[in-house]
Amino acid sequence: MWRYAPALPVQHEASIISLGEGMTPLLPARRTGKRIGAADLLIKDDGLNPTGSYKARGLSCAISMCVELGISKVIISSRGNAGSALAAYAAAAGIEARIFLPADVPHANFVECKAFGAQVVLGGKKVEDDWFDLTTPNEPYRIEGKKTAGFEIAEQLGWELPDAIFYPTGSGLGIIGMWKGFAELEALGWIGSKRPKMIGVQPEGRQPVELKAVLESGGTMVSVPGEHLIDAGIRLAGDDGIFGEPDGAACVLAAERLLREGFLKSEDKIVIYNTGSGLKHCEAYSTRFARAASGETDKLGGLITPR
Ligand SMILES: *Cc1c(COP(=O)(O)O)cnc(C)c1O
Repeated sequence: MWRYAPALPVQHEASIISLGEGMTPLLPARRTGKRIGAADLLIKDDGLNPTGSYKARGLSCAISMCVELGISKVIISSRGNAGSALAAYAAAAGIEARIFLPADVPHANFVECKAFGAQVVLGGKKVEDDWFDLTTPNEPYRIEGKKTAGFEIAEQLGWELPDAIFYPTGSGLGIIGMWKGFAELEALGWIGSKRPKMIGVQPEGRQPVELKAVLESGGTMVSVPGEHLIDAGIRLAGDDGIFGEPDGAACVLAAERLLREGFLKSEDKIVIYNTGSGLKHCEAYSTRFARAASGETDKLGGLITPR
């Protein structure tokens, strides 16, 4: 990611805290593409980042800025992946970290935070004190790391943006970050004015977000049934060898729907952003396999057993 250092806010090279984040592969998903009717489907696999999620980008940048600004204590409230990434980068920087996680946080995230030496508070409300708060969107630096996702997609496609990008939306900063990245690339003369349709994907029931970038791009927000995500993840893994977070797999369901409805054309170049590794959700995936073994059919129609 730090190949883009001149476009990031860190001034001194010595402040940079890197664990090898970024320049994750943009992989063809041929079988998935065939199944959903997309001739040119690619998956940006950010599950291959340090601590297994795209959160490494924002927190590498934010913790580097903490080093530069002389901040020695940070807190965050997180569903899991931001906590893991913060814990790793804080450890590498020698900064103290206190992390507030929900009581039902995926086990992998809990173990990572502990292993990296962070203070972990489970199920408690974040206490405001004088520690620097890195919770989205309370600080300005994580988005700067996130915009490198946009830089990379452009660079990996030869400076020609795709027709659509699907992104599993939580706070929305991932989409805003890419959008900012594209604007900066155009200002620098690396790309033209063409933009992809930005498509935000959320499981039903999650707090809906509205994003100006999505509207401006001619994209849309899609919600998908939460009970289908695990099966979608298993199907993607079996079809193309990419084991994603359920949230990433949700984007495949959304793409399938928008292709069927004619919002996208089969010849469009479509990028699906897989934001994290399936290994983060071992409990949910293994519960699904146990149910399949005891005869429960798969939500998407008989795809899990037999393979
Ligand atoms: C954080 C996260 C998201 C949401 O990203 P935002 O930038 O908050 O919209 C999606 N998927 C995974 C796996 C995440 O960790």
